Amino acid sequence: MREIYHFIDGEVVKGTSDRRGDVYNPAIGEVEAQVALANQADVRKAIESSMAAFPAWSATPPAKRAQVMFKFRQLLIDNLGELAELASREHGKTLEDAKGSVSRGLEVVEFACGIPTALKGDFSESVATGVDVHNTRQALGVCAGITPFNFPAMVPMWMFPMALACGNTFVLKPSERDPSCSMRLAELMLEAGAPKGVLNVVNGDKEAVDAILSDPDVKAVSFVGSTAIGRYIYSTGCANGKRVQALCGAKNHMVIMPDADMDQVVDAAMGAAYGSAGERCMAISVAVAVGDDTADRFIEKLAPRVRDLKIGAYNDPEAEMGPVVNQQAKDKILGLVETGIEQGAKLVVDGRDVKLQGYENGFFVGGCLFDNVTTDMDIYKEEIFGPVLATVRSKSYDDAITMINDHAYGNGTAIFTRDGDAARDFAKRIQVGMVGVNVPIPVPVAYHSFGGWKDSLFGDHSIHGMEGVRFYTKLKTITSRWPSGIREGAAFNFTSGSDV
Ligand code: NAD
Repeated sequence: MREIYHFIDGEVVKGTSDRRGDVYNPAIGEVEAQVALANQADVRKAIESSMAAFPAWSATPPAKRAQVMFKFRQLLIDNLGELAELASREHGKTLEDAKGSVSRGLEVVEFACGIPTALKGDFSESVATGVDVHNTRQALGVCAGITPFNFPAMVPMWMFPMALACGNTFVLKPSERDPSCSMRLAELMLEAGAPKGVLNVVNGDKEAVDAILSDPDVKAVSFVGSTAIGRYIYSTGCANGKRVQALCGAKNHMVIMPDADMDQVVDAAMGAAYGSAGERCMAISVAVAVGDDTADRFIEKLAPRVRDLKIGAYNDPEAEMGPVVNQQAKDKILGLVETGIEQGAKLVVDGRDVKLQGYENGFFVGGCLFDNVTTDMDIYKEEIFGPVLATVRSKSYDDAITMINDHAYGNGTAIFTRDGDAARDFAKRIQVGMVGVNVPIPVPVAYHSFGGWKDSLFGDHSIHGMEGVRFYTKLKTITSRWPSGIREGAAFNFTSGSDV
């Protein structure tokens, strides 16, 4: 059986823990590899390696760090197919979908290539007579990243390219369900010219995470994952004096106005609700139809499309959607669908019994579509993280706004309408971090930043783009006096530029 270890100080390292986790191929439902689960000593080794690499790497001019990023970008392009295959095989998503997600990670690397511009400071001449002020943004030290299973290449690349470009060194703890991509990314980073220790990967579970959170030499932690774990990581990391950003779970609503182009809406809902089997933090999981007539037209057009979804293994070129990640995820999804029926929602399309010839043990769940969902039901409140779309009938546009603003999550949302006034009003009033207007999955491009509101993000910074630069650096402001003969004597009171 294939074994996956750690990548520490430029090489693959077995570690000292003998605990192992199973890595599945979700399409066939079989364990394909075993991943080492790090103990505290393994994590400490990675942190020490990153600490040793920090002084030289942070002193490397930003333009030289950018050169490493340029090489890394080219290596990502050259190895895109392999990275997508690694992601798909362990996650289950289709190859085309995986390629798209690697490309979105690549875009963050492209932003990181411009780091000299992003780190450029401000300068104010003569804030007082003979006094100038400038600021710089300096690296924090060793940063760590804890990532989820659903984007094994993209989410790590939301983090370490930005952290490294800013001059930090990095310890990445990927999801134990699909760790191979991160191992390969670390190899490519080394090949691109990042000195050993600049990027380390430790595989593991809670034990490894707790070792990161309790280590005083880790200065900042980026987390992406579920809300319950994110809340724990945020509170523990902050209590231990670290800078923390925790991007968490979601329940993304799509508002369908009566004037929306229903064919466009249905195309959008198909991709956004069922793509990647709904295992995206930006997946649409609630459709809010304004008015019964809108809801009837939506369900009538959408239901046959959901029934016809092409489900298959990641390498089936016809597949629109693969399996979910493991049996536990499948059981959770099926359990919530059952609860939805019990609580009175109408299951219009039932994908629970899908069976694929040759893949009988795969973790497949067919597309499910609910109508008449109400806000007190579990399928409305909870993140299902599967191919299940809940339709809520809303009496008015204002009710739809209130509903979304009252929801605990605030990651993404979208409105479908032809009415510019409604769209503008929606974008302004909605309490959600990322908003789409006739765009179902409004994932910002790399030079904008990604992040939700409410229980979808704990911390002060979104991820990547300029928010990434701010998160991974400390601001320093330098005030200098070059008096050239000016002598003012001792100043006992506060002075300002205007009164000097
Ligand atoms: P998860 O919270 O189970 O795991 C995330 C990470 O936390 C993994 O590395 C895991 O090893 C670690 N972890 C798990 N249990 C832990 C514990 N008890 N203590 C400490 N660490 C622990 O999430 P997941 O199932 O891998 O990913 C799916 C979740 O991620 C969904 O909720 C999804 O919405 C969210 N997500 C959010 C975003 C975003 O940007 N907001 C992006 C992608 C995924």
